[in-house]
Amino acid sequence: MKTFSMPPADESLREIDCPLCGGRKFRRFWECDGFRFVRCVGCALIYQNPRPRRDALIERYGDEYFTYERENEARFFRLMTMGLADIDFDSRTAALRGEDRTFLDVGCATGMLIARMREQGFRAQGVEVCRPAARFGIEERRLDIRVGTLEDARFAESSFGVVHSSHLIEHLADPDRFVCECARVLIESGLLIITTPNAAGLQPRLFGARWRSAIADHMVLFTRKTLGRLLEKHGFTVRAIKTWGGLAVGLGPRWLKRPLDLLAKRFGFGDVMIVVAVRAGSRRAS
Ligand SMILES: [Zn+2]
Repeated sequence: MKTFSMPPADESLREIDCPLCGGRKFRRFWECDGFRFVRCVGCALIYQNPRPRRDALIERYGDEYFTYERENEARFFRLMTMGLADIDFDSRTAALRGEDRTFLDVGCATGMLIARMREQGFRAQGVEVCRPAARFGIEERRLDIRVGTLEDARFAESSFGVVHSSHLIEHLADPDRFVCECARVLIESGLLIITTPNAAGLQPRLFGARWRSAIADHMVLFTRKTLGRLLEKHGFTVRAIKTWGGLAVGLGPRWLKRPLDLLAKRFGFGDVMIVVAVRAGSRRAS
C-alpha cells in the first residue's frame, strides 16, 4: 500500500528543469495515476515533472494532513528515534554544549521530537507549514514552533548545532534552496540529519511506480548518490547513511518481512534512508 498523499487536485502543472543540476534533459521514469516521475539525464535525480506550483503545494498541508499527522504521530516518533539511534545521535551530539546545544526540527508536525530534545537538554525549536499541526504543538505541548517554511522563519546565521528533517525534503519544490538555508542556519561543524525515501532501495526496484513512496506529494525522490551530491554542493560532508524498510507490511509473505528488514538495514537496500552530514568548518565566500 502506498503512503498517504493528498490527491493531485486541479492544480495547474508546469514543466520544470532538474531541481538538482538545472538540466533540461530527462527520461520518463515512473507513470503514476495523474502524475509522473522523470529521471534527469545529467545527474540521475528522480523528480516529478510536470508538477504544481510551489504555493499550490503548500496549500495541500491543511486540516486533512493534520488529521493524518496526529493519528500517526506516535508511530512516526518511534521511527524517528530509531533512525536517530541508527546514526548514534547521542554520541555525535555529546560535544554540543551551552549555546551550541540547539536543535531545529524542520517539518516538525505536532512537535513530539522537539519535546524529546528539550528533555535531552537542547534548546529545541520547530518549523511547520501545516498550520493546525503547528498550532497543536504550540498550544497543547507549549513548544516553540514557527508556522511556515524554513526560509519564512528567517533564523539568524549559525543559530543551530543540529538541523533535523524527517520525510520533508522529498515534499519540497526547491530542495536545493532548503539545503542552502540549512547550511546558513547551522554553526560550523553543525549536523544536518535528513530522513527521506531511498529510490535505490529494493522495494522501488521491485515495485516501480507502485512503490509506496511514488506518491503525488513527493516532488523529488533521492538516492544516496543524488542526496550526497546535493549536500556536497552546499559544503556538507556525509558522515553516515543508514537505511531501513526491506519489505512493507502487507507485501509478500509475512515470514519474509523480518529477515528482509534485517538484511535491508545490514546491507543498505532499505527504501528509507537517514543521512547525517556535517557542515564545513568555514563558510565559502558568497
Ligand atoms: Zn539533474
